[in-house]
Amino acid sequence: MYGRESLPVHTVEGRCRICGARTHVLRLTEFNLKLCPPCYLRFFERRVRRALENHDMVREGEKVAVALSGGKDSVALLYALKRLGVVMGFDLAALHFHLNMGDFSDRNLQVVEEQCALAQVELRVVRIGDMGLRVQRVKGWHPCAVCGAVKRALFNREATRMGAQAVATAHTLEDILLFAFKNLLSRKYLVPQPVLPPENGLVRKIKPLYYMPERLNLVYCRLRGLPVFEEKCPTWSPHGHALKEVFEHMEKVIPSSKLQLALSLKEVLPSRDPDSLVPAKPCSRCGEPATQDPCTLCRLADWFSGRQGDPGAPYEG
Ligand SMILES: [Zn+2]
Ligand SMILES: [Zn+2]
Repeated sequence: MYGRESLPVHTVEGRCRICGARTHVLRLTEFNLKLCPPCYLRFFERRVRRALENHDMVREGEKVAVALSGGKDSVALLYALKRLGVVMGFDLAALHFHLNMGDFSDRNLQVVEEQCALAQVELRVVRIGDMGLRVQRVKGWHPCAVCGAVKRALFNREATRMGAQAVATAHTLEDILLFAFKNLLSRKYLVPQPVLPPENGLVRKIKPLYYMPERLNLVYCRLRGLPVFEEKCPTWSPHGHALKEVFEHMEKVIPSSKLQLALSLKEVLPSRDPDSLVPAKPCSRCGEPATQDPCTLCRLADWFSGRQGDPGAPYEG
């Protein structure tokens, strides 16, 4: 079950720090730890639980909607939250957006369905094509900006329809660093927060993997035997991710520096989140809470239907 070749961490000689086992011991440089696979799984779930508890992300009796793309991060989050929900007394459902990108989106959905069946979690699929939307270049917008804006707008309305009090996204330690750093380099001082409180008709947004290096999510998936959708999105470009290599190099030179850097940035930068900068008001067209009027979805739908020539400026985030 624990194939060495498929894991993104090294197995090493020595003993598990927790139980003393000597087989398949994994070296987690980020935490200066050596753990056997069963202890790793408990360690991972304990860290997610600590994030939930320390930031008061979810309360007993609530329902959490997990934004499930099907990649390693979101399926690790789904599965860990499913197990923690049983112990902590919250309910879980998954929310997947079919992004209207042909076979790619169909294959993506198939894996997501397998993941939800395995985790025994209710799945809500939202097809953006049914709303007249698709992910492609729009005047002034990169396709990734369209995708991000559509997802951001839909998280809230769909989670509300599902009866959820919170949406959990699988932002990882690297995502947090990348965002904060890109801003810092253009002299904007913002760091995403682990929790965005519910306000202005928006549900609470939580990031339980805020302190989790992404390769450890993959280790969790592999050890639990979870199916992962590994295809790159057709609009993916290396450019947007190049800065991540800087962090990886830094981590090689100084183990655990990514985590320390994120903690330091969070301490010194203002505690604001990009999503909370503008108060939400109801869109005059669809009535959903939005930060612009008409809301992003209404403006993009107009653009795709050819009724209006200007989709406006991309959301700055
Ligand atoms: Zn152990
Ligand atoms: Zn609208």
